[in-house]
Amino acid sequence: MRVTCYELNINMTNIKDFTGYNPTWCPGCGNWGILTALKQAFVQLGMGPDDIVVVFGIGCSGNMNDFLNGYGFHSLHGRAIPNAIGIKLANHKLPVIAIVGDGDCYGEGGNHLIHAARGNHDIKIIVHDNRVYGLTTGQTAPTSQKGYKTRSTPLGNIDQPINPLATVLSNGATFVAQSFAGDLNHLILMIKSAITHKGFSLLNVLQPCVTFNKINTFQYYLKRVYKLDGAYQQSNLKQAIEKSLELNEEKFPLGIIYQENRPTYTDFIEQIKGKPLVEKERFTNFELLEKLFI
Ligand code: SF4
Repeated sequence: MRVTCYELNINMTNIKDFTGYNPTWCPGCGNWGILTALKQAFVQLGMGPDDIVVVFGIGCSGNMNDFLNGYGFHSLHGRAIPNAIGIKLANHKLPVIAIVGDGDCYGEGGNHLIHAARGNHDIKIIVHDNRVYGLTTGQTAPTSQKGYKTRSTPLGNIDQPINPLATVLSNGATFVAQSFAGDLNHLILMIKSAITHKGFSLLNVLQPCVTFNKINTFQYYLKRVYKLDGAYQQSNLKQAIEKSLELNEEKFPLGIIYQENRPTYTDFIEQIKGKPLVEKERFTNFELLEKLFI
């Protein structure tokens, strides 16, 4: 239930306002932490379920569509990003979040990711990066390490893993961050930072899949993650790219890797400068339309 606090002039929501059906995820999966952090971030930002749109891809992460209460859109595999962009173009005043998995975002949707970054589309992409295809019972994913053995690669993965942070940084992303599903406070902070950034945001969340990935476990990450300190300059692109390359050595910086302010895609569209597309008068001159097509 939403309550208005007149003294502070903010709307107060409760984590229960965002609670949908009971999750069917495996016990201990990192997805639980991401869902909790997401709901907490919404509450702390004073948002209600009707203030946002969350677009989902396909995968265990996409099943969150049923577990989160709010406006949602469950898209096709790899197509969460273009749907999120479409919604944003229709109503650029609405916060739009895409919840995707590493396969969905860096594999099937990789092309969309690059173009969303270079256009500085004001959408927030939160990636459940568990380095495996969990929903389809454990096949090699784009972020799986070389040599990683799964049902689809019994002799070991041949490909180099995608470096998602370096990929978007080198393609114009204005907000790039990384967090860990085992550190709830940090994750809440990063989700809030991604949502409040004006422009394209990628938050890569290291998320253990306890059922199918027996290598990249909570213990594995706890030994390798570290937080960026105050000396780190978030606006230095060269430094950010160097930092992102640490992933190749299995070191995992947590925090805002890069942030810059730049006009967003919709800032350049004259036709929607006054008001969003959804608030404009509908075109009803069908006679003129017919003439145009004859
Ligand atoms: Fe989580 Fe893996 Fe189970 Fe999917 S298969 S719910 S990612 S533990």
